[in-house]
Amino acid sequence: MAQAYIGLGANLGQARATLERAAGELAQTPGIHDLQLSHFYRTAPIDSGGPDYVNAVAGLHTTLSPFELLDVLQAIELAHGRLRPYRNAPRTLDLDLLLYGDQIIDTPRLIVPHPRMHERAFVLEPLHDLAAGLELAQGSLEKLLSQCEGQRLHRLP
Ligand code: ATP
Ligand code: CA
Ligand code: CA
Repeated sequence: MAQAYIGLGANLGQARATLERAAGELAQTPGIHDLQLSHFYRTAPIDSGGPDYVNAVAGLHTTLSPFELLDVLQAIELAHGRLRPYRNAPRTLDLDLLLYGDQIIDTPRLIVPHPRMHERAFVLEPLHDLAAGLELAQGSLEKLLSQCEGQRLHRLP
């Protein structure tokens, strides 16, 4: 089984409740096991406009392939009313495949590790909750987080 990490984000509607439901749906998907959820964080939008985001990361074990896992993520996004009116638009739910074991995938539909995760505090901080010792190709989570200062992030109770 592969260890995978999923980034969850939302900035429309009941964002935190949406992430909790999405995590529950992931946990119940056949082929997904041992789902663990990070703390939730309120974060200022970086590349997109609109209200603050709520972000979290889920760690899981899976027998699904990376592409099957992406299918599951996109089906859950759609079920939560995700629209893609324009790039970086506000969204009810965004599920990104961050890491899939140590696999490197570079296709038009799927790039893993997620190509922007290492510069995003809203990914690195919750990922650190689950896997503090993790090393990305660009360095340790601590080092990468220290390079994200200025990105406003607030851990929710
Ligand atoms: P970002 O990727 O910068 O976080 P985004 O999440 O807003 O931006 P989307 O509109 O959700 O981008 O996704 C655009 C496309 O990215 C999807 O259709 C999907 O096929 C592709 N994609 C490539 N790699 C990944 C990945 N690791 N996880 C999720 N989607 C990916
Ligand atoms: Ca994203
Ligand atoms: Ca996405």
